[in-house]
Amino acid sequence: MPKFTNTESSKYAFEHLHDEYECDVCGVSYSEGFRLSDVRGVVAEFEPVAHCLGGHTLYSEQLLPLILDILGKRHGFEVTGLEDELEHGNGRQAILEHLKVSDV
Ligand SMILES: [Zn+2]
Repeated sequence: MPKFTNTESSKYAFEHLHDEYECDVCGVSYSEGFRLSDVRGVVAEFEPVAHCLGGHTLYSEQLLPLILDILGKRHGFEVTGLEDELEHGNGRQAILEHLKVSDV
């Protein structure tokens, strides 16, 4: 958990999360996620799970619009393009299922 001082209420800390899993049959799989925190705690988190069955990951193309969307909802701006990016990889449903966003 990143440390903030009381004067840092407008600061966010970004952490890249990574998971790796080695299967005897399928080989190694990788998964990427993130945690975004502010002075009050975790704002949003996508826990990566690498596994040949039931794993999920976030692609870099999805990460940026996702983060901008989360920040936009908190700060009153709008970013388009997220919906298109969510269709890649695991698909929209799987990503939103594993994304935890705290209430503003
Ligand atoms: Zn496997």
